[in-house]
Amino acid sequence: PMPGIPFLLEELQDHFHHHYQLDYETQEITVTNGATEAIMVGSLALLEKGDEVILFEPFYDSYPVAAELAGAEVKVVTLHGPDFRWDSQELEEAFSERTKLVYLNNPHNPTGRVFTSEELQELSGLVKKYDSYVLSDEVYEFLTFDGRKHIPFATLEGMKKRTLTIGSAGKTFGHTGLKVGWLAASEEVTKAVRMVHQFNVFSVNPMAQYAVAVGLKQRDTYIEEFQKLYAKKRDHLNRVLTDAGLSPLMSEGTYFTFVPLPQSALNKNWDDVTFCRHLIKEHKVATIPPSAFYRKSQEGSKYLRFCFAKTDEVLNKAGVYLKNLEQA
Ligand code: PMP
Repeated sequence: PMPGIPFLLEELQDHFHHHYQLDYETQEITVTNGATEAIMVGSLALLEKGDEVILFEPFYDSYPVAAELAGAEVKVVTLHGPDFRWDSQELEEAFSERTKLVYLNNPHNPTGRVFTSEELQELSGLVKKYDSYVLSDEVYEFLTFDGRKHIPFATLEGMKKRTLTIGSAGKTFGHTGLKVGWLAASEEVTKAVRMVHQFNVFSVNPMAQYAVAVGLKQRDTYIEEFQKLYAKKRDHLNRVLTDAGLSPLMSEGTYFTFVPLPQSALNKNWDDVTFCRHLIKEHKVATIPPSAFYRKSQEGSKYLRFCFAKTDEVLNKAGVYLKNLEQA
């Protein structure tokens, strides 16, 4: 079936109700080829030439591409380090009568931030005022740490009809590359989404869809264990990085830890790309240079993104490889 197999659509309906008391009809949910396809079809369904979109930088790199392929103009709002919050004035100034869509990623890749209810409410006020939509990329919905609760944007007052909520089985089951995702939105928006999905991929591998539905049914035992496992990995990587003389920021969610460049690298005038190359060549540790996720500010060149979705053995090895970092 083009929108997804009924077994999975019904399971997703139950998922939204069970975790968030969000009630969607099955005709408001579309199974996609990963969240990546959901981002693309959501953008192509809603946007046209003349529309503006707002992105928070650092952004997940497919957002500007999807928006621009759809013909929209991108406005960027910077999340300023070290706490990666937006500036309220900068945010309001980015809105205009042409703002059609805001891309929100919460929990946030690459900074590891989980936005607070106050921040989300501020955004919802502007979305209402400027009559726009939110593409809420919530692929890390279950990767929140230290007792933080994920708040789906669609649960904010008046936001359900304005929100395209995106999830990913690849992230939820720690199997990036699985490529089963979903998009929940009003029936009207879903109709447009499905028109694009129909002529994009038509449908998603049914065996993978069955597997995901069966996986989602294990929620009572799975999710807590999943969160604990990754909180442990986050702490493990933090210890490794701290022992190496780095000062990792505390990740609140996702698989990622954002780390400021050490003084030794800054003293040599290195940026994120130079330091990243150095770590690969000299220490066999690969990271992501976040400047690729920025368009407006230069802040990204002062950080690296580390991923802790690794075995204990690999994390320990990183510790050994990074031992002589400061002397480099
Ligand atoms: N959104 C974000 C924020 C991501 O980090 C990723 C994966 N890196 C995706 C979407 C894509 O998810 P999927 O693998 O389900 O296509």
